[in-house]
Amino acid sequence: MRHYAEKLRNRGADITYIKTAELEKSLSRWIKKKGIDELNIAEPANITLKEYLGKLNIDCKIVFVDNKQFIWSIPEFNTWASSRKNLIMEDFYRTGRKNSEILLEKDGKPSGGKWNLDRENRKLPPKNGFQKKPPQHIKFSPDKITKEIIAEVERSEYPTYGKGKDFNLAVTHEDAQKALDFFIEEKLSNFGPYQDIMLTGDNVLWHSILSPYLNLGLLHPLNVIKKAELAYYQKNLPLNSIEGFIRQILGWREYMHCIYKYTGDKYLKSNWFDHERELPDIYWYPERTSMNCMASVIEEVLNTGYAHHIQRLMILSNFALLAEVNPAKVKNWFHAAFIDAYDWVMQPNVIGMGQFADGGILATKPYISSANYINKMSDYCQNCTYNHNHRTGEDACPFNYLYWAFLHKNNEKLRDIGRMKLILKNLDRINKKELKQIMTHADDFLKSLK
Ligand code: FAD
Ligand code: SF4
Repeated sequence: MRHYAEKLRNRGADITYIKTAELEKSLSRWIKKKGIDELNIAEPANITLKEYLGKLNIDCKIVFVDNKQFIWSIPEFNTWASSRKNLIMEDFYRTGRKNSEILLEKDGKPSGGKWNLDRENRKLPPKNGFQKKPPQHIKFSPDKITKEIIAEVERSEYPTYGKGKDFNLAVTHEDAQKALDFFIEEKLSNFGPYQDIMLTGDNVLWHSILSPYLNLGLLHPLNVIKKAELAYYQKNLPLNSIEGFIRQILGWREYMHCIYKYTGDKYLKSNWFDHERELPDIYWYPERTSMNCMASVIEEVLNTGYAHHIQRLMILSNFALLAEVNPAKVKNWFHAAFIDAYDWVMQPNVIGMGQFADGGILATKPYISSANYINKMSDYCQNCTYNHNHRTGEDACPFNYLYWAFLHKNNEKLRDIGRMKLILKNLDRINKKELKQIMTHADDFLKSLK
């Protein structure tokens, strides 16, 4: 905001920038001083913020204008949704591709013959590491304004999370563009195949870290998508990576925003599994757990405010779901910890996708896994005190007994979900004696969490 205010001032615009803890009073004074009778506000993506602004007791009319942070408008989505039995993301994404004419042949068919190339995007981490490591992500040195803000945050009386002194993100549109160009040049070609892998000490790999810039309005989603599309035509980058990346923005990001507006603010209270446990303190103090995957990811989040999608979903959120934490409490932690956090994107991602608290509006089954998946997709288990192959015994991995205990406890509920049938058949194969041990391990472990 401060850089943008400066930029507009330099262009000759009449800018008032007020730092205030009392918005209503400050705004009223400013409106009176400037003789304003109509206030145009870019529509906030968050429902509660729009309600708050709409109720401000000020002496002028408020008009919300299109905020341009999304490609789909909510009326457009409502029309699309009203003619459908279900709101599947893949259908939404294909409609978005057609509407915005992205990666389409002249006859309207998808470039390369398929809408979704995810099957080509499931590479595992190479056994002996990468010959060529992922490039270090682009960093921006803080300028005078940013340094002032870092000092202000560090002086502030509010408890803060993360390390201000290491801040190296872009804070202007121009630098955010550089970050996008860097991603396209250096990382995009490998984004697709390796987007699901996790490695100790590198929480970015081939991901873009564009979410803060998109969510703050420093980059427009359609510009990002078009630049990536151009790289397919002009630089001949692999279609599986380009399509996979474009699907994240034109598909997932747009979809999450529309679903958030569609379901309304009651969504936050969803709690399909009736989970009521507190968030364990290891989310704030990673040194208090011996689970290497959890400790590594949380430590990186502490330092940077960032983890990539699979770390968020299959480590942090997976554990919270298996540990029966109250979904709103999980969301509150994510909200405090991440650089790209906003209600509109947190609620569907954490409450819906991560915790399955909506009972299946957003996902077709809960995203849960045992250590098997984590071991396959990462190097965390190689240096862990727990054994990823054991589900009982002293060194058994908590992800294993918690996973099977979760399935056993929620068996009745989950049986109606088509995609759970095969998994529940595996649960039925566990003999009674072992199942009893699993349940005791899970119970003891949950009791031990603080
Ligand atoms: P990349 O992997 O490089 O993907 C490119 C872009 O696609 C992202 O920048 C983002 O804008 C978009 N995108 C991809 N997946 C999603 C998605 N599921 N929802 C919305 N946009 C998506 N995203 C946020 O922007 N803010 C959040 O607070 C947030 N919290 C999350 C919490 C959980 C539990 C989960 C499972 C996902 C969350 N996501 C959130 C979605 C996604 O994980 C992040 O957008 C992504 O990891 C950001 O990193 P990146 O820019 O390197 O993404
Ligand atoms: Fe995580 Fe279990 Fe693997 Fe340890 S063994 S890193 S706790 S999945």
